[in-house]
Amino acid sequence: MNELWQCRICRSIVTRDQIDGVCKTCTNHTCNHCKRICDKCQEICCMFHIESKIVMRNQQPFVHRLCWVCKEVW
Ligand SMILES: [Zn+2]
Ligand SMILES: [Zn+2]
Ligand SMILES: [Zn+2]
Repeated sequence: MNELWQCRICRSIVTRDQIDGVCKTCTNHTCNHCKRICDKCQEICCMFHIESKIVMRNQQPFVHRLCWVCKEVW
């Protein structure tokens, strides 16, 4: 039997093993719905502490996901 948990970040109802990370900015536990990985430092952030930046590369839009720390130094 799986215990169900409510994610404190995105409010999804998930099983315990889907809560598998900690946002490095707000230190809340992230579930598989709101977990994001920063493209630059490869650390885990929640969906509120990561920002998408779209840059054009060879005429193609290319999405970068950056945490709040990397966003400042980009
Ligand atoms: Zn966060
Ligand atoms: Zn979540
Ligand atoms: Zn980062």
